Amino acid sequence: MINEIFKIIEKEKKRQQNTIELIASENFVSNDVLKAQGSILTNKYAEGYPKKRYYGGCALVDEIEQAAINSVTKLFGVKYANVQPHSGSSANMAVYRALLNKGDKILSMSLDEGGHLTHGHNLSFSGQDYNFIHYSVDRQTNQINYEEVKKLALKERPKLILAGASAYSRKIDFAYFRDIAKSCGAYLMVDMAHIAGLVAAGLHQNPCKYADVVTSTTHKTLRGPRGGIILTNNEEIIKKVNKAVFPGIQGGPLMHVIAAKAVCFNEAMTPEFIKYQKKVINNAKVLCDALKLEGFKIITNGTDNHLILVDVKKSVNLTGKEAEEILDKIGITCNKNMIPYDPTTPFITSGIRLGTAAMTTRGFDEKDFASVAKIISTCLKNYDNKEVLEDLKLRVKKLCLDHPIYEEVTYE
Ligand SMILES: *Cc1c(COP(=O)(O)O)cnc(C)c1O
Repeated sequence: MINEIFKIIEKEKKRQQNTIELIASENFVSNDVLKAQGSILTNKYAEGYPKKRYYGGCALVDEIEQAAINSVTKLFGVKYANVQPHSGSSANMAVYRALLNKGDKILSMSLDEGGHLTHGHNLSFSGQDYNFIHYSVDRQTNQINYEEVKKLALKERPKLILAGASAYSRKIDFAYFRDIAKSCGAYLMVDMAHIAGLVAAGLHQNPCKYADVVTSTTHKTLRGPRGGIILTNNEEIIKKVNKAVFPGIQGGPLMHVIAAKAVCFNEAMTPEFIKYQKKVINNAKVLCDALKLEGFKIITNGTDNHLILVDVKKSVNLTGKEAEEILDKIGITCNKNMIPYDPTTPFITSGIRLGTAAMTTRGFDEKDFASVAKIISTCLKNYDNKEVLEDLKLRVKKLCLDHPIYEEVTYE
C-alpha cells in the first residue's frame, strides 16, 4: 500500500511534467522549498508563538518561525506578521474573527466577477457567519468602478471592506480603497492571494501601505508552500489576529510548512525573483495578444498581471466547462471561470482563466507562450477533429519535454 502511494506520486509528477499548467493559482516550488516542506519538522508540536509555546523542545522551531516572520515583514515592508495560517482561507477566517462579530457587514467583490469563496459565498463559513454585500465590476469595462464602490460603501456602511480577487486581470488601486474605507469608517482588508508575488517584486501597488490588514496565500505567484499569511502595521490588530489564529481557529502550526515559507520569502527577495515576476507579466500579455489575434475575446481586453480571462462563449461558442475539458485532452490544464455578468452557472461558465506563473517558472518564454496561444486556438476551433488534436497533443508534449521540472526528485 505504501508503495502504491509513492507510485501514484510518481505518476502525478509525470502528469505535471507532461502537461502545460495554466491554472492561474498554481506554481512549481523550488527544490529548497520542497526540501524544507518534506523535512523532519513535521514531527514537532509547537502550539503558541515563538518564546510563548505550550510545549517543550521548541527553541529551534522558534528560530525558524521568527526567521519566517522577519523575512516576510522585510519582504513586504510591514511591521507585523502571522505565518501560521494553514491556508488562505484560514487566514481570512482569522481576520474576520479578529476584527468582527458574527453578522457584521462586509463589502467585497462579487464572486461571479472575481471574488473568492471566502469573500461571502453562501456555502463558505464566510457567507454563513457574516453579512456580505458585494460590489460588481463595471458592465462596459468589466473593471472595478471605484466611484460606484464608494457610493455603495457610504450607503451600506460596512464594518470591513475587502479588496482582492481570484479572477481579476487588472491592477487594483488599494490607495483608492483606503479612501473609501476611511470615508465610511470601515476597516480595509486586502486579500492579495493571487498577486503576492507581483507585490513582492514591486510590480504591483503594495497593499500593506494602505490596508489595516493584508492576507495572502504563499503558493500562488509567491511560489512557496501551500499556506497563508497575515500582515499588518497595527499592533492592536496583530494581537487580535494572533489570538484568532491560535487558539481561535487552529491548533499546532505546521512547522515544516513555516520553514518552507521562510525559504520562499528569502527566494522572493532575490533579483532573480524580480526578473521572474517581470517575465510572468510579460508572458501574460504575450498570451493575451496572441489569443486576440486569433479572434478571442479577453475580459477587460487585456491584463496587468499574471492572468487573463477568456470569454470562450463569445469567441468560439463553447462553455467554459467544454473548453476546459477539450484542452485537458491535449495536455493543457486550466479552469473554467465565470465572467462578469455571466448568464450561466459556476459549473458551466462562459469563460476560462489562464495564468502564466507556473509555466514561466518552467522557463516558457514569449515564443513558447505564442505557441501555446496558437495551440489553444487551433484546439478549441477544431475540437471534433481527431487528427488535429493528436497533432496538438504532440506539440504540447514537445514543449513540456523541452522544459523539465524536478529532474533529480523521484519517489519510486
Ligand atoms: C486562493 C485564494 C484564497 C484561498 O486560498 P486557499 O489556500 O485555497 O484556502 C483566498 N483568497 C483569494 C483571493 C484566493 O485567490
